[in-house]
Amino acid sequence: MIRSQALRFVYPGGATLVFPDVMVAPGTVLLLSGPSGCGKSTWLALVAALVAPTDGQLEVAGQLLGVLKPAAADAWRARTIGFLPQKLHLSAALTVYQNLAMAQWAAGVPENAARIEQALASLGVAELAARLPAQLSGGQAQRVALARAVLLQPALILADEPTASLDDVAAADAVALLLATAQTQGATLVIATHDARVARLIPPKPDGQNGFEPLFLKGQ
Ligand code: ADP
Ligand code: MG
Repeated sequence: MIRSQALRFVYPGGATLVFPDVMVAPGTVLLLSGPSGCGKSTWLALVAALVAPTDGQLEVAGQLLGVLKPAAADAWRARTIGFLPQKLHLSAALTVYQNLAMAQWAAGVPENAARIEQALASLGVAELAARLPAQLSGGQAQRVALARAVLLQPALILADEPTASLDDVAAADAVALLLATAQTQGATLVIATHDARVARLIPPKPDGQNGFEPLFLKGQ
């Protein structure tokens, strides 16, 4: 599902980031951790084909990245990746329903009201469809953003610092929601975080094995 080799990304005039080789199987919960500035968000951007590798190979869901033209990368991302960014980027002028409809439109699929309602309902926020983002609590906004991320049933869900600035109860909620959503969808889940609470919030598998696979970035 995610395979990388000798992956490197250089910000123009800035940091050079060297990433460890990975081989992540479908359905995995990957916990991407490490101190602030170690490259977690950059790794997510690479996996989402938002930026192209400077060197090395990166294959995600059977697609070799870095070779796609921008429009093809956009289409691939819309089909494959559900992104829950740190800043949620809900459009302030649009209702919750319209924010999700816009995601379908941007992905080039016909507006599907039933699917939008189902995605909102699966996250417990169906009754908020007519609200504007400013009329949502932080937790509600995160649920709406997650509903938008999984609207097109992506194979891969990427969450960037989903517990940042949440208290313990809300952080536990956010992690449980991500795990449940990924499991229901049969998606691979990557949680990027420098929050040590997250590892403790991922329950072990029924056979007692660790509930996540760790990927630790040391930074430079
Ligand atoms: P993390 O998410 O782990 O905190 P980031 O991936 O955001 O780390 O950043 C990794 C490194 O790349 C940091 O040193 C950061 O300063 C640098 N960086 C991030 N974004 C940019 C950018 N747009 N231009 C130049 N350097 C950047
Ligand atoms: Mg980050």
